[in-house]
Amino acid sequence: DKDMTKVLYPGSFDPITKGHMNIVEQASELFDEVIIAILQNPKKNPMFTAQERLEMISELYKHYNNIKVVIGTGATVDVAVLHECKAIVRGLRSLTDYDYEVQMQQINKDISNNQVNTICLFADKEYQFISSSMVKEVLSLNKDISSYVDKSVQRKLKMKRGN
Ligand code: ADP
Repeated sequence: DKDMTKVLYPGSFDPITKGHMNIVEQASELFDEVIIAILQNPKKNPMFTAQERLEMISELYKHYNNIKVVIGTGATVDVAVLHECKAIVRGLRSLTDYDYEVQMQQINKDISNNQVNTICLFADKEYQFISSSMVKEVLSLNKDISSYVDKSVQRKLKMKRGN
């Protein structure tokens, strides 16, 4: 449907946190469809395979018909064009995020010949400081992560750790 505004929400989601979920929720209220794209960053050594992340996130959104999940390969803008997304959604937490996103949005406009724009959203205050790496850190200390990730994600994290 040509009149639909679809957006791509790309990231590592290793694992998906309540911060990510808050951005997905906000994006799904603003746009007709949100496509969550799991991107593989070879520089990062992921805890979950892309397939495991796909299953984990699909499970969370199985009852939402305007939220889809895909595994992306190559340039994020190409994934966006492939799925007919006019824009990439990114979540901003800090100035460090901002500095990086300013560069990325410009590169993405350039390499997509202005076909793909970038929209930044902000997590609600209780989720603003959550990151996947912080969740893994807290888990490695054997501390409670239930405020940071969904129950089903928490279960998968514990299974990975072997408890
Ligand atoms: P990436 O490797 O692309 O940074 P992440 O999975 O870490 O992938 O994050 C995906 C996107 O979600 C990024 O735009 C990131 O800034 C955003 N994000 C992650 N956690 C939060 C949060 N707690 N609040 C707002 N945005 C977030």
